[in-house]
Amino acid sequence: MKETILTIAAHNDDHIVGAGATLAKYALEGKRIRTIICSFGEMSHPYLRKEVVIEKRVKESLKADKILGGSGIAYLSIKEGHFDEEFKKRDIAGKLAWIISKEKPSKIFTHGVDDLHPDHRAVYRLIMKLIDKGTIKCPVYSFDVWSLVKIRHRNLPRIVVNVTDTFNTKIKAFLIHKSQTITIWALLWKMILKDLISGLVNGYTYAEVFYKLK
Ligand SMILES: [Zn+2]
Repeated sequence: MKETILTIAAHNDDHIVGAGATLAKYALEGKRIRTIICSFGEMSHPYLRKEVVIEKRVKESLKADKILGGSGIAYLSIKEGHFDEEFKKRDIAGKLAWIISKEKPSKIFTHGVDDLHPDHRAVYRLIMKLIDKGTIKCPVYSFDVWSLVKIRHRNLPRIVVNVTDTFNTKIKAFLIHKSQTITIWALLWKMILKDLISGLVNGYTYAEVFYKLK
């Protein structure tokens, strides 16, 4: 059986920003990449009908997944900005536990503690809970989407992945998210700069850095 890498992201482009080139690299190595997206991001376009936004964002995320070489996405349809509430109301932890037991991933990638976005931090806390409960037994690595400065991560062990060969694939997959008109350019430059600096300090052209949560 193929080795499975599982990614758990709050919104549909987070894992691409944080780990896209590493996921593409694993896919090239023949690993199965499975992605869980918590929210459709239906609040991103308040002037459009919710169904229209959801359809758009699902389409984009599936296209991006294909570019990365992924093996499909599961959506949890959590309301944006209400993650903690919905985690309490709905048994999201149970659902995640079920998916994890089914997929048996060798590694999980998810949000980190230093992220400035409250939805991202809510996912981080939920994953930490699953680690504490013993539901997650494999190594867990975190990525950052909306943070440049590492504060609490500093003492965690980290892994550096040389993504020079798959960095272009990440950019391609990211640019599929055309509906994210406002944030896409800000994120794009930040992403390029971050992976370039990570590469520079580690002796590669481009690198992605992850912090080991478990
Ligand atoms: Zn996000």
